[in-house]
Amino acid sequence: MCGIVGYVGKERAISKIMIGLKALEYRGYDSAGIAYAKNKKVKMIKKKGQISNLEKHLNYDENTNIGISHTRWATHGKALDVNSHPHHQGKITLVHNGIIENYDVLKKKLEKEGYVFKSDTDTEVAAATIDSIYKETHDMVEALAKASKTLKGSYAFAILNDDCLDTIYGIRKDSPLIVGLGESENIIASDIPAITHVTTSYVIPNNYDIVVLQKDKVKYYDQNKKEITKEIKNFSLKEETISKNGFDHFMLKEINEESEVVKRLISLYTDGEKVKDLVDISKYKYIDIVACGSAAFAGQIGKYYIEKFKNIRVNVYFASEYRYQKNFYGKDTLVILISQSGETADTLAALKIAKENATDTLAIINRKDSSIAREADKVIYTEAGIEIAVATTKAYLAQVIILLLLAIKGFDEEKSTIEDLKLLPNLITKYINNFDYTKISKLFVNKDHVFYLGRGIDYYLSMEGSLKLKEISYIHSEAFQAGELKHGSISLIDRNFGVIAVVTDKNVGGKTISNLKEVAARGAKIIAITNIHDDNFSDEKIEVDDINDVINPIITIIPMQMLAYNVAKLKGCDIDKPRNLAKSVTVE
Ligand code: GLU
Repeated sequence: MCGIVGYVGKERAISKIMIGLKALEYRGYDSAGIAYAKNKKVKMIKKKGQISNLEKHLNYDENTNIGISHTRWATHGKALDVNSHPHHQGKITLVHNGIIENYDVLKKKLEKEGYVFKSDTDTEVAAATIDSIYKETHDMVEALAKASKTLKGSYAFAILNDDCLDTIYGIRKDSPLIVGLGESENIIASDIPAITHVTTSYVIPNNYDIVVLQKDKVKYYDQNKKEITKEIKNFSLKEETISKNGFDHFMLKEINEESEVVKRLISLYTDGEKVKDLVDISKYKYIDIVACGSAAFAGQIGKYYIEKFKNIRVNVYFASEYRYQKNFYGKDTLVILISQSGETADTLAALKIAKENATDTLAIINRKDSSIAREADKVIYTEAGIEIAVATTKAYLAQVIILLLLAIKGFDEEKSTIEDLKLLPNLITKYINNFDYTKISKLFVNKDHVFYLGRGIDYYLSMEGSLKLKEISYIHSEAFQAGELKHGSISLIDRNFGVIAVVTDKNVGGKTISNLKEVAARGAKIIAITNIHDDNFSDEKIEVDDINDVINPIITIIPMQMLAYNVAKLKGCDIDKPRNLAKSVTVE
């Protein structure tokens, strides 16, 4: 959560900083701020609200060549101007992504030293901690090395020091940070999209590496203050460029990119007939899939595929539970971690626990070179390209397809499934364009509560459909196994309730339809996403094709995403930046 950018160059730093910051707004957007050096002094502007609000208070022509900035997803303290970053204490001004877990103890100690705190944040305590240590060392590298032993929790910092306003200092622990290397300009940020206007060369600092960033040089030090060299990498600019390409929202653009994603995955991971040697999961007796949010729901579809083809018992866990519960590790267990960003804090922690228990790990990740991708034993990239809308679409679909490829490897159905997957790009385009989602969505736009109902694989799909709807439209929605409803929750149903039914699995479709009759009898309005064409059991119907039980779940995903998008659009919601959310959940 939260995006940080620090830039040092020849001139016009504010514009360079703000281009970077806007590219990170998906990471948090409840407040934003900037600090820059002018006439040997630090000037700070910070405002609650989205970055556009901060921009109203900026002068882009200000004569400065160095500054740091932040777009926040609050963890400690409300979204107020005073809690916005940067935070300033003594000679230190900094921006922070993460949580300082021992801030309370440190704050009490620092207050005794005479520090006075203006904000409710953990971050201001970090600023004071570094300042207090710097007062003794008069050396920032040493101060940061010491501070990293004092501060507990997670952090990525970009820091200005009043004594050397030609330099930005950076350090990270468990929060992402990259350094972009330009020509007479350098940049430090939370993610690659924030540096593309400066460079395509970058360095990823390890935990506790200290970065000293100046206009013409960047130096790195380890926690023992020894200078170290780092590998310089390059990314392709095409992949990382951010634009809506004429679509109203990133979410719609990204749904439209799903056809291309499927084509890319087929060409990268199959030879047209067989799945390439990705990772052989056949040798394991147990698989734990560990993820958060939509990635966990992709894991549920993966469970369906892996159990069906490979006959391996699969359990799917939310990472925030998995890391604290009793787990059974061993040589015959594989832990699969799924994350779009590769920085999801709970999933990263779960990975570390699995590794500590000498259990094999496989990461399915979208963002290259992210923390989870680097630390897992094996990684498969979902290759969905950069995803900006907070509500995932193409990355979720890509996760499902990777799990399917792992499941079918070595089976008779391998070739025919790859053939079927080649049908997907056209079907995706068809499902985006052929239905009148605006008309269908009108049925639900005034509903306060919705149940997403299905059985078996249709229930697994409903989990994601329901999350998609609630996260962007703010309609309360729950996914339910259709058969469970009458064991309590059907008492909620009345004529103000909406039901979205996913009915694609022939084995249980008839049973689900009976359950739908029960909710209809109690007044609920029903939208069905179904491949059953000859039965009427809903008020509105989105009819999908009936290919087979491997492909049917995947094609159902598109109408679910389009439905959520259109309900949210009709309600006038901020679709790409839903309230209270952020894209990359780097705090636990
Ligand atoms: N913990 C800090 C705060 O609440 C930073 C949160 C973030 O990573 O956005 O201000």
